[in-house]
Amino acid sequence: MEKTVFQKIIDRKIPAKIVYEDAYCLAFHDITPQAPVHCLVVPKTPIARLSEAKVEQEALLGHLLMVANIVAELKGIRESGFRVVINCGKDGGETVPHLHVHVLGGRSLQWPPG
Ligand code: 5GP
Repeated sequence: MEKTVFQKIIDRKIPAKIVYEDAYCLAFHDITPQAPVHCLVVPKTPIARLSEAKVEQEALLGHLLMVANIVAELKGIRESGFRVVINCGKDGGETVPHLHVHVLGGRSLQWPPG
């Protein structure tokens, strides 16, 4: 199966501006930022999307959220606030089939999303 762009970033086959890495995930800047800060937190285990996560991956899912906090801290938006987004499937707006958590901030974000 063709590797996703995020798997290629994890494998260092294509470049990305990495902000955080540990044994379980990698966080890097989104190539098309929608806010002054827009990073993606990606598990190294290639889960296609949230709806396909397994019960035994519950701790990993929680870890991704804790890393979103770390990214917010590293990018200076933990105090001002930020938004965490997971787009799942066609109607959710998912475009890359490798689970990823968007971390957006650095400006006042509107609600509801489009
Ligand atoms: P989705 O729409 O699936 O929730 O989000 C995919 C995100 O990946 C988009 O925000 C898009 O800008 C980002 N993206 C797509 N290709 C690349 C890439 O090659 N490098 C980086 N850093 N981000 C990418």
